[in-house]
Amino acid sequence: MTWRDLSFIDAIELLSKHEAYSQSARKEAGMIKKIESYPELADPQLQPRYTGIPTFFRLPHTMRLDEVDIGLVGVPFDGGVTNRPGARHGPRDIRNQSSLIRKVNQATGVAPFDLVRVADLGDAWIERPFELQGALAEITAFFATIHAAGVTPLSVGGDHSISLAVLRAIGKNGPLGLVQLDAHCDTGDDYLGSRFHHGAPFRRAVEEGLIDPKRTIQIGIRGSLNVAEMWQFSYGSGMRVVSIEEFYDKGWRWAAEEARKVVGGGSAYLSFDIDSLDPVYAPGTGTPEPGGLTTLEAQRLIRDLGSLDFVGADLVEVSPPFDTSGVTSITAAAILFELLCVLAQARVRRRSNVTRPDV
Ligand code: MN
Ligand code: MN
Repeated sequence: MTWRDLSFIDAIELLSKHEAYSQSARKEAGMIKKIESYPELADPQLQPRYTGIPTFFRLPHTMRLDEVDIGLVGVPFDGGVTNRPGARHGPRDIRNQSSLIRKVNQATGVAPFDLVRVADLGDAWIERPFELQGALAEITAFFATIHAAGVTPLSVGGDHSISLAVLRAIGKNGPLGLVQLDAHCDTGDDYLGSRFHHGAPFRRAVEEGLIDPKRTIQIGIRGSLNVAEMWQFSYGSGMRVVSIEEFYDKGWRWAAEEARKVVGGGSAYLSFDIDSLDPVYAPGTGTPEPGGLTTLEAQRLIRDLGSLDFVGADLVEVSPPFDTSGVTSITAAAILFELLCVLAQARVRRRSNVTRPDV
């Protein structure tokens, strides 16, 4: 009998028998030390960080939501991009580069993996990637499930349109405050016949009652405009728009204070568009705008937001095909760690009165 004579099921059975046999044979022979499962963050003191399956931060990959406080989620979707595509490849690249990240934040002392239970929940599964609204609905359904289980989402896009999908899941019980780092306000209107794209998520989020414009701050805004009033919705609705010029004049410490003032004590969301950084630090993105934040300014700004009640965060717009040196994904992984630290701080503060949100 050859492989050709086997049915698919037979072949799978035979292969798994072979695998089971060879595993036990290897074990008996004591030839290979192999990890049987991946139950917890692999200790970098025991295993080199470049080994193992590249989950975010080398975390366990699980969908057991009752065992997770903060869930990392990849959202490999870039159907809302208006110019250079490729952000669909962001999660996989950032997963890979995030193995560089260690366990303790040297600047703040925060050790997120010790404070809370963190896991990689995999990707928000997208079965209709060519249909923008269908894909956004699928992403929302994924996040609604983890939100109902009381898990705080930390998402990795994907283009910025995915933030609307996430907010539809976690902001439905009342508008959230928003801290957005971005070169663009992303409060545009319909564009080229589409109501939804990566230049409009926060306008739609306000219209749908998901974020409160008066508790929203947008930092790093710059670049040329299609029309002078392109971001008029931000100003008209009462958002605090911090141009890169104002940021540069007043500094990250002032910007953090301003963010705390605008957002206040209520629940909030933190959205980090990698194009907020200058393209010298993050060239691999869809709409780069020269003249932006340094990586260090962004890191210090985020670290100074640890007192805010963040109930979710995302990092979006990393496009590996335009990231020829890999520096954008490395930088993104470092920023992702900062986002994780402030989410962990918020989570710990809420721990005393842990009430799972209504399903
Ligand atoms: Mn954006
Ligand atoms: Mn942007």
